[in-house]
Amino acid sequence: MRANVLDYALTAPATLTEALALLSDGAHTPIAGGTEIMVALNTGRLTQKSLLSIQHLAELRFIRVEPDAIHIGAGTTFTDIRNHAVIAAELPLLIQSASWTGTIANQNRATLGGNICNASPAADTPPALLCYGATVTLISSSGQRTIPYANFHRGYKKTALQPNELLHTITVPRIFVGYRQYLRKVGTRHALAISKIALAGVAKLDGNTITDIRLGAASLADRPVRCHAAEAALLNKSITPQEISKTVAAARAALLTEARPIDDIRSTAAYRAAVAANLLEDFLRSLLI
Ligand SMILES: Cc1cc2nc3c(=O)[nH]c(=O)nc-3n(C[C@H](O)[C@H](O)[C@H](O)COP(=O)(O)OP(=O)(O)OC[C@H]3O[C@@H](n4cnc5c(N)ncnc54)[C@H](O)[C@@H]3O)c2cc1C
Repeated sequence: MRANVLDYALTAPATLTEALALLSDGAHTPIAGGTEIMVALNTGRLTQKSLLSIQHLAELRFIRVEPDAIHIGAGTTFTDIRNHAVIAAELPLLIQSASWTGTIANQNRATLGGNICNASPAADTPPALLCYGATVTLISSSGQRTIPYANFHRGYKKTALQPNELLHTITVPRIFVGYRQYLRKVGTRHALAISKIALAGVAKLDGNTITDIRLGAASLADRPVRCHAAEAALLNKSITPQEISKTVAAARAALLTEARPIDDIRSTAAYRAAVAANLLEDFLRSLLI
């Protein structure tokens, strides 16, 4: 049933300090671009009645490039990200995933922070951010803390955020120039589809040897995950025409030991696991070229 908007209150503070003060009662729900929240509201699923708009907070909308890292404010839109030259050059998987997130109109409003905090296991940007070893800075009126993004997701739609906290910054180290990078999303169609399964990978090769590899997946568990077992099976392995089949077989087997996909309306656990292994093979064979 559609919700009655008169049942909801929206406060729109002018500054981050004000927003954090309001949030300290633990009873407000942040709303950024609103592209998730408004769908929940329209369909009568939004149980939180006190909304706190953070959409216009300039303090949350920035991309800052420093020598060692790129800092992205949680309120940065996907359009901002797609238009950023340094991100395009160094973090192509983030650009790719931003371009998959809904339509252009959606990308003009939807924020990176909203994509992460919504905590869908199928969201588009988490696999890339996991590969890139991102950290996230969470802020409240009593201080801030920075944690590895890999520790942010705590279960299905559960995150490390406390009710009085906002996600402030996503930070990615600038070490990926020269890495081979891969991202593929499998959905019901090419555009405007929520993924059934997605795999992101970055790998550094010294000659034919993999000296660093990081894999991130969507819908391979109840939350976005790094694939540590598959990574371990691939580290220091040779990517050569002679060795590739053996390496792929070991990596596929390792991935299946750690896969914990869920059955839901979009797909089955069995399909997700099988296709994830196929995507991993696709990535590894692309390293031969
Ligand atoms: C038509 C359509 C298509 C879509 N397609 C895709 C798709 O292909 N892939 C995909 O991944 N998503 C898709 N989405 C979902 C949505 O657009 C994205 O998840 C988007 O990034 C959400 O960002 P937002 O700023 O609009 O979040 P909001 O709706 O404002 O918020 C989402 C959640 O995050 C919380 N939140 C937001 N910002 C913060 C913050 N800074 N700190 C703490 N909590 C915060 C909110 O409280 C809420 O729980 C689609 C949505 C629509 C309507």
